[in-house]
Amino acid sequence: MGKNTSIYLDYNATTPTDPRVLDYMLPYYKDKFGNAASFHHKFGQEAKKAVEDSRKILASELNGKIREIVFTSGATESINLAIKGLCGKIGRKKNHIITQATEHKAVLDTCNAMKNKGWEVTMLPVNPEGFVNPDDVLASLKNETILVAIMHANNEIGTVQPIADIGEICREHGIYFLVDAAQSFGKLSIDVQKMNIDLLAASAHKIYGPKGIGILYVNQKNPRISLQLQIDGGSHERGFRSGTLPVPLIAGFGEAVRIAEEDRDVENEHLLHLRDKLIDEIKAAHPDVELNGSRKKRLTNNVNICFPGVDAETLIMKMKSVACSTGSACSSANLEPSHVLKAIGHRNEMAHSAIRFSLGRFTTEDEIDRAIEIINKTVTAIKKTSPRHRLLSV
Ligand SMILES: *Cc1c(COP(=O)(O)O)cnc(C)c1O
Repeated sequence: MGKNTSIYLDYNATTPTDPRVLDYMLPYYKDKFGNAASFHHKFGQEAKKAVEDSRKILASELNGKIREIVFTSGATESINLAIKGLCGKIGRKKNHIITQATEHKAVLDTCNAMKNKGWEVTMLPVNPEGFVNPDDVLASLKNETILVAIMHANNEIGTVQPIADIGEICREHGIYFLVDAAQSFGKLSIDVQKMNIDLLAASAHKIYGPKGIGILYVNQKNPRISLQLQIDGGSHERGFRSGTLPVPLIAGFGEAVRIAEEDRDVENEHLLHLRDKLIDEIKAAHPDVELNGSRKKRLTNNVNICFPGVDAETLIMKMKSVACSTGSACSSANLEPSHVLKAIGHRNEMAHSAIRFSLGRFTTEDEIDRAIEIINKTVTAIKKTSPRHRLLSV
């Protein structure tokens, strides 16, 4: 690769589709194009088989049952279906939801939508590393509580929440537990039974699968969950989600998870090495930087750093060949600092100095070495011109 080639360090935003996944998908666009609901002929049967093969892999990845996997268009839709579907089904007699401050907007905005319809939402705080305290979950439970929604791994700062502890509390008190696993599914091991998870959202495009496909895991035993339909139509997916199944995307999702499972240990080790090198070498050159999130209980591919006194937007613009994001990809368009960085206690100025570098399967050591050099040089250059740093060094 040439010196000017862009280095992609935004894998928490999305990943390229693995070429092996794409190869696996192609036949389902060409010869095996049937509708999985057309069971009278070979075309439909081939498509149906691809869907069920994928469903089996996804269920097994979670230690769930095949009939507990519902295909959706992505984690956002899964979360909407889980929260609105459950609240709609159970009704207003149980009108209290518990969630926490660093959730993805898919959860926060959906909870807000329920709030506007009269549900009460408790927003738990997090500590400076981004962890929610299971004791706070316990203390917030009421007779009216229907659902606890806590993410597994945070998309901005990589913090991995104590899901099993929270699941245990929910199960003991007979409260449904929803986990947004968009950043952890395929990367960390998840066992819905051991972790007492009732509903779980995941997405293919965060793990080298295609965009536009996700799942909602829906517990069907102790307790068996029913959801109010959010899309009316032909009662596909056992009545949970209508619409013709996107067979190539579903096949690709299954293959992406199969590969993720197979390569997980080697890949995590590789990522951990590169991630720690990136953190350590930025710190060595600029000791004033601060790592956001926990160093230990963190996604192996996530780095999120505050560069005090440096404006993150300026830094990103000057590092044209490093593709990364400020605090959050989703809020990059507005000037509000990231809600996650605010939740871990950063004031506006500090939050505006944060950059997320996220690594992935195709990140090489050479790319990380080049990125370190570019980042460190650019930060030094910006500090030289910034009035604050000039004053500090007098
Ligand atoms: C990406 C992401 C989502 C949204 O997933 P889509 O499949 O893109 O809708 C939700 N939650 C988290 C934590 C994410 O990282």
